[in-house]
Amino acid sequence: MKRNSLTLPFPDIRFASVALVDGVWDVRAQKLSTAASCPRCQVVSSARHSSYQRRFWDLPIQGRPVRITLTVRRWQCRNVACRQSIFTERLPGIVDPRARHTWRSAGILRLLGHGVGGRPGERLAGRLGFAGSRATILRHLVRHQQLPDHSAPRVVGLDEWASKRGLHYGTIAVDLEHRTVIDILPDRTAVSTAAWLAERPSIELIAPDRDGLYAEASRRGAPCAKQIADRFHLVQNLRAAIERQLRGLERPIRGYRANPERLLDCDGPPSAAGAGVQDEPKELTHMSERSFLLAAFAKVRAMYDAGKTVAAITRELRLSRKIADKWVRLEFLPERTRMAPKSTTPARFAVYLRQRWAEGHRNVRRLLKEVRVKGYTGCYPRLAAFVAKWRQKAAIKQTPATAVTLPLDPRTGAVISPIVAAALCIKPRGMLTKRQAGKVDILKRELPIFACMRSLAMRFRGLLRGHDPAALDTWIRDAMRCRIPVIQQFAAKLRHDIDAVRNAILEPWSNGQTEGQVNRLKMLKRAMYGRASIALLCARMRPLREVEYHQI
Ligand SMILES: [Zn+2]
Repeated sequence: MKRNSLTLPFPDIRFASVALVDGVWDVRAQKLSTAASCPRCQVVSSARHSSYQRRFWDLPIQGRPVRITLTVRRWQCRNVACRQSIFTERLPGIVDPRARHTWRSAGILRLLGHGVGGRPGERLAGRLGFAGSRATILRHLVRHQQLPDHSAPRVVGLDEWASKRGLHYGTIAVDLEHRTVIDILPDRTAVSTAAWLAERPSIELIAPDRDGLYAEASRRGAPCAKQIADRFHLVQNLRAAIERQLRGLERPIRGYRANPERLLDCDGPPSAAGAGVQDEPKELTHMSERSFLLAAFAKVRAMYDAGKTVAAITRELRLSRKIADKWVRLEFLPERTRMAPKSTTPARFAVYLRQRWAEGHRNVRRLLKEVRVKGYTGCYPRLAAFVAKWRQKAAIKQTPATAVTLPLDPRTGAVISPIVAAALCIKPRGMLTKRQAGKVDILKRELPIFACMRSLAMRFRGLLRGHDPAALDTWIRDAMRCRIPVIQQFAAKLRHDIDAVRNAILEPWSNGQTEGQVNRLKMLKRAMYGRASIALLCARMRPLREVEYHQI
């Protein structure tokens, strides 16, 4: 190669020689300068001390790595007040002190690491002629992304993500305006999230997850910022409320609803559990399910031992084939496996809580204080959710609707399940298939309560997009008057968080994109085999703040 055909676009650098050694372009060059400024005191010095050689990698040429050996000078600092007596010349815009890659080369490596990760980045870099292992690529990426970020987010979405599902969760913060991830926190606590929010005074609007923890963190860390309830989750909460109401209409155990008497009444007098079928269906489902199952299991076993086929048993008892198949192969009906509850779960204190509840102590704050003394380390919302089941059960029992069952689907002949009915209840007619519309018509005709809830649900969906907060007040008033306990509870919750719900109606923001970013995080986490550190996950999730590689 001719000497003059290779030019280095770096100022004050004289090209000396180039040679291909072991597949690498070995470029020799020299820094030409008559003076340099001291990195400590910035005073310019022209007193030369000595010189030394620096080696670093640059952009490849013809698919082969380029290693530059640059002779750089050392200088003496003449400033008597400066502690630095000798300094080496800095190469701003070319290479950082002690770095092994030029800025432009490191920029490309970061881009590869950000786009495809360590190992694929290493393969791609090698093919393109860059010298850089996956560790180098990821180190460049993480260090660069950890540089101070001066962006000032205004609208922020908060959500949780599972670093170990069921065991450990972190927090993700998204700039909803710029559709970018701002940060990934390693934990999910109100304290750390509040501290994070407090460091960012530019935040005006916060869209927290429906988990009360982030709402609490927002109140603590950014008291001036407005909270926005998520519209999707509001509708989902309404759906869950409707489902709870419809479950109250359900018969005790789904597998046996066709003929529970036949399962239990064949041998002599009905058992205690059998008697409970008619009297207290809800209690049976939750409390006596085990005894009911044991009786049913004994019946199936006896029939099988008497020589009946599984098909005959299934037909006669109207059991599911799957259950009958499983039971005939079992000697005993195994206990359900349940994990011992931790101190953060209210279930650990269930016996005590149940006793206090039975005594009439129903104030959750007070119960929280009491179980805290007993070692409960969980939060208020979890305890509230735990005892809410008992409150709802009592409420459902009070409604006259418990005597009614959900209607049959004419196509299948099976009872429409509460899950399906609740999902249909909140789905607008335009989005229903013909079959679904048929089901909705049957439900509306046979269950006045369903018709009432559907009408309220449709109005609720409409008002979420109507930008009219006055309609919300009317809706809440109507919902409180509807005499359906779960809808009244839902309306009461809305009233409790009325500002956030109003903002959901007025503001265009929702937490949808935060959910999307959580999906992206899961994808990246799995692409790195779940072994990436929080710093690396954060570096890949945040947009790459790059400028210099455009200037190559
Ligand atoms: Zn100095």
